[in-house]
Amino acid sequence: MAKHPAVFLDRDGTIIEDNGYIKDPMDMIFYPETFRALQLLQDHFLLFIITNQSGISKGITTAPQVEKVNKHLVELLKVRGIAIYDLFSCPHKTEDNCSCKKPNPYFINKAAGLNNLNLAQSFIIGDHPSDVYCGINAGVKPIYVLTGHGKKHQHEITEEVITCKNVLDASNYIVSYKNNHERL
Ligand SMILES: [Mg+2]
Ligand SMILES: [Zn+2]
Repeated sequence: MAKHPAVFLDRDGTIIEDNGYIKDPMDMIFYPETFRALQLLQDHFLLFIITNQSGISKGITTAPQVEKVNKHLVELLKVRGIAIYDLFSCPHKTEDNCSCKKPNPYFINKAAGLNNLNLAQSFIIGDHPSDVYCGINAGVKPIYVLTGHGKKHQHEITEEVITCKNVLDASNYIVSYKNNHERL
């Protein structure tokens, strides 16, 4: 059976504004270009969200609050015709030394195992170096975006990493990359 390529999306600063540790679905603000971006991507890729939510471990948010926000986010995307296959959330902070916090590739590998994914043809989009290195650690191509924390951390990203203005630019890049590499 053919393996599916996927795009792994970061949440805060990539598809919604990074407004700190969001506790309430009402505080969630989508970037206007997110819907078009994900509609483009889902014609070619299975979509997943992987998000670091250390606010839980830090006691700023609770696991049920974060879960409510995540569920609402997936629902709002569904209303726009966008299917998120799965959403993975790490509740830990760096000092917890967990295995699931990006840049660990744990959730990418988990998704790949559950969904028969072709990681070599997959991508990750994110606004933080940990997204880029999560992709590299898992063997998927990273795309760095300059929304959210992107501009602030850009100096930590090596020159070879593809950098895009936002998630729509990243999606356009990914779709044309796929089209160019499809005729084998
Ligand atoms: Mg982010
Ligand atoms: Zn974790």
